[in-house]
Parts: sequence; C-alpha cells; structure tokens
Amino acid sequence: MTTATIPTVHLNSSVELPALGLGVFQSPPEETVGAVEAAIGNGYRLIDTAAAYGNEREVGEGIRRSGADRGEMFVTTKLWISDYGHEPALRGFEGCLRRLGFDYVDLFLLHHPMPSDFDATIAAYKAAEQMLAEGRTRAIGVSNFSKQHLERLTSQTDVVPAVNQVELHPFFTQPGLRDFHAAHGIVTQAWSPLGGVNRYRPTDANDVKNPLGHPRVVELASKYGKTPAQIVLRWHIESGTSAIPKSVRPDRIKENIQIFDFELTPDEVAALDALDTGVRGGPDPELIDRQRYPFKVEN
Ligand code: NDP
Repeated sequence: MTTATIPTVHLNSSVELPALGLGVFQSPPEETVGAVEAAIGNGYRLIDTAAAYGNEREVGEGIRRSGADRGEMFVTTKLWISDYGHEPALRGFEGCLRRLGFDYVDLFLLHHPMPSDFDATIAAYKAAEQMLAEGRTRAIGVSNFSKQHLERLTSQTDVVPAVNQVELHPFFTQPGLRDFHAAHGIVTQAWSPLGGVNRYRPTDANDVKNPLGHPRVVELASKYGKTPAQIVLRWHIESGTSAIPKSVRPDRIKENIQIFDFELTPDEVAALDALDTGVRGGPDPELIDRQRYPFKVEN
C-alpha cells in the first residue's frame, strides 16, 4: 500500500504509517513552515514534531499553507516529561493540539521513559490510551523505550504501543530491540536516521562519527548513482523501519525522498547492518529525569 509514492507500514491500531517522513527537531521555528511546505510539495505526508521542539505551531501552519488535505497527512507529536502523570498528560495533549491547530493527531508518543518515576510514565500513557479511545489520536506509542521499559509498560497498560521511536542509523542498529518490537507487533521508527545525533556537536572531534562518510556507504552511493544519505535511507526502508530525516534545506528534503526508484540487495543491507558500533549518540534512556532535563513545556 502507498501514500503518494511512499510505502506505508501497518500499525497495530490499523493505521498506515508512511515509511518516510520529515523530522523537525532543531528546525528553527522561522524555517519550519517552509521546510514542511517543501516536504509536502515533494510528496512527504508524515511530519514528526514534539511539544519540546517548540515548533508545533509552525508544523500546523506549514501543513495548512501547503494546501494538503489534513486527512492525507500523518502528524506525530510527543508529550514531554514535564507533562507526565495523568492530568498533566491530558493537559499536555490539549496543548499539542492547540499549538498544531488540529483537532486530532495521527500518532501521539511519550517522548521518553522516565525510569525514576515510572508511575508517572504509566499514568501519562494511560492518558494517551484515553485519547486513543476518544478518537483524538489515531495511534499511540513511545520513544526511547528499552525492552525492559516496554515490558514494564505493557504489563500495566492495555494498548501495546504502535511505535517505539528510537535512535537508529548504521552506527547504532539496535538489533535486539528491533527483534523484540517485531515479536510484539511494535513498529520501529528511526530517529537520527542519517546519524545526525553524532554531528550535534561537530567541534568535538571524538563525537563525530558520520555514517554518511563511511566508505561502504560512499561506495554504494557511487554504484547506484545516489547520495550517501539516499543509501542510508534506502537501508531503513529495506529494513522495515520508518525513518524521519530532518532537514531545513529544500534540496536535501527533496533528495531524502528520492529513494523509491532503486533497491539494495540483501547482502548490501547486511553490509550496512555490520557497521553497528553498539554505541549510541543520544542520551541513555535509563538516565532521563526532570533533574537532568528540567525544561518545561508551557501549555
Ligand atoms: P538526522 O539523522 O535526520 O540528521 C539531520 C542532520 O543531517 C541535519 O544536520 C541536516 O542538516 C543533515 N541532513 C539532512 N539531510 C541530509 C542529506 N541529504 N545529506 C547530508 N546531510 C543531511 O538527525 P536528527 O537527529 O535530526 O533526527 C531526525 C528526526 O528524528 C528529528 O528531526 C526528530 O523529528 C526525530 N528525533 C527524535 C528524537 C526522540 O527522542 N524521539 C531525538 C532526536 C531526533 P540540514 O537541516 O542543514 O539539512
């Protein structure tokens, strides 16, 4: 099944998730409207934002300005940890809808597990279940959950998360977690699909591990007449993960979706799987709490 030219992945809530979308983390608000419009103009239908990104308003505005039918779009947003707990989560959800300017979202995620207060995490998820039952979101899920976090969550709640959005790129491939997802009908969605997280602090030479520069990726790019980013994004598609590359540059937004006219062989997919270092670029999900991340979303 396809949305425009983009294949979709079936979610456990019987909703189709586009396999490729636009991420907007660190997209400055003043550049977000244009990025969203450019994406939709090039065939994207999935936009991934979050309460904590500070650009939900501009995502909504970009979608409206593009002239796309709301019903054709797939909008994901995420609840920040300052809104965990049942009542705060309900308020947080309303805040997301108000900022986006929509009366529903397609996917509502808990942005992180909060292991130091997992009861508040569970309560927030139960609020999301309520929003699902009321039809105000078409699917619910989580982000940055480990296998253990998922086991704890599912033992205390009713709806299996449709999606777990996690760091995933050729240098951090999470094979164990992906197997767990597959066994439980949870779709894996890749954040930092191009390995962007390893370039957030480019001045620190030790932090720079760019999969787009790896010789195996560059070689495949030359073989297929594609760019390294297109090779890596195609690898996500072949692997069955949904990927949400971020760019604010119209040329790259266009480049990142031009991946549906070629295929990698199973051996090539395996060769990219083998680049895994087992080292994440982002924070350890076990360590997310309100002390380390005191940012609060204003609803
Ligand atoms: P990505 O892997 O998407 O990389 C983004 C970086 O790569 C940006 O610097 C961008 O720059 C650059 N880039 C984009 N396209 C290309 C290209 N074709 N060639 C070369 N460089 C390119 O990393 P992100 O961390 O931004 O992750 C993507 C999305 O995932 C986020 O926007 C967000 O939606 C989500 N996310 C979720 C998290 C979570 O905790 N749930 C955490 C982090 C991200 P430029 O914009 O200048 O083109």
